[in-house]
Amino acid sequence: MDSLWSSYTANIAYAISQLCIAIIMGGLYFLTPTARSTRYWAIAGLLSVFGSTLTAFNISQFGQLPLIITSTLMIAAMTAKWWGTQAFFGKRPAYVGWYLMLGFFVAYSLVTMMHPTLAARTLLFSFALALLTFMNVIEVIGARKLKLSFANSLVIIAYTLAAANFLLYGILTINGNIDFTPENHDPINVFGLYLIPMWCNLLGSLGLLLMYFESIILEKEHLATHDELTKLHNRRALITCGRREIDMAYRYQRPLSVFMLDLDHFKTVNDTYGHDAGDQVLRDVAQTLRNTCRSTDIIGRYGGEEICIICPQTSREEAIALGERLLNAFRNLRHAVCDNRNVTCSLGLYIWNPETDLAASWETMMHRADTALYAAKAAGRDCMLQYNIDDEH
Ligand code: GH3
Ligand code: MG
Ligand code: MG
Repeated sequence: MDSLWSSYTANIAYAISQLCIAIIMGGLYFLTPTARSTRYWAIAGLLSVFGSTLTAFNISQFGQLPLIITSTLMIAAMTAKWWGTQAFFGKRPAYVGWYLMLGFFVAYSLVTMMHPTLAARTLLFSFALALLTFMNVIEVIGARKLKLSFANSLVIIAYTLAAANFLLYGILTINGNIDFTPENHDPINVFGLYLIPMWCNLLGSLGLLLMYFESIILEKEHLATHDELTKLHNRRALITCGRREIDMAYRYQRPLSVFMLDLDHFKTVNDTYGHDAGDQVLRDVAQTLRNTCRSTDIIGRYGGEEICIICPQTSREEAIALGERLLNAFRNLRHAVCDNRNVTCSLGLYIWNPETDLAASWETMMHRADTALYAAKAAGRDCMLQYNIDDEH
């Protein structure tokens, strides 16, 4: 058994795995220094490397101070990891982490010097580590708008297991008289104290790494499909969504309504109050649209101050009701940047009924909604008109 399970080898393996994590996180940090999370995670990896290497060399045989330093390093590593997770979610690293580290250092020193039994200090060490490990889980679960993904599930599972393992270890310490020093090569010691934490930490760190990449991919995807100013869909995303909705409407034989919206006399807003004020009006307009339309409606900036709204599974009556709601919302929306004036809009509506109409293309639908919009402008603005073939010119 002794030749198979060695605390020293397990510690070296732990150190190597953490070194790999530190190198990857450090590399990412130098690539994007503004992302502070990777800096903390790299520091956490390095502190673990020092801590576990010192343990591997059974530093405790040289006295109490090296033992205190080693244990504090492991606690500092887990604090840094927690800070990294906080930074990832846009929070400021909690100051309380410093107090936890200092508190641990003082308490551990006192226990080690005054009460040199293994049980007391192992208990303190296990519980402190369990708490700090679990803080990562709390950060992930408590994140705003959390959507469970493979990456954050991995973090939750790995660090919950790690925390449970440390907790169990602490409890075993109270009840049993197991020797928890690195000289004990019993599998329960090697597994509980080194191998399980190593696997959990490795999986947890990989989960954090995946969460980091996931956030970059999602951000890039968002930038590619959304308009910077209004945060509405951009024209490219609108066309993709529009074509898909046409396919769905055709497949399930459900009506599809499309609005083309253009602000009235918007040029005079820019000319009178400046371009920045015009930009703010566009942001307000986007927010009003988000508040007024259904969450299943697709709202996109078609260009300039022209906005397209695709309403899947929306009948003629529902579309007309929505159009009236929109006109009213714009009439009532007062813009602080324009002396509390309102900016009305004109709406062109085209309703495609796949049961009665021939298969429509995206281009046809846009053209018809646009024709209706021109007719609404010609009719005096601040109104909605439905597409009429007679308006074609
Ligand atoms: P109409 O009632 O006929 O629509 O009159 P209008 O003045 O709104 O005319 P039009 O729709 O052609 O005007 C488009 C104006 O929208 C021109 C431009 O100054 C303004 N515009 C387009 N994009 C932006 C933008 O991103 N920011 C700002 N501030 N203004 C924009
Ligand atoms: Mg306009
Ligand atoms: Mg326009």
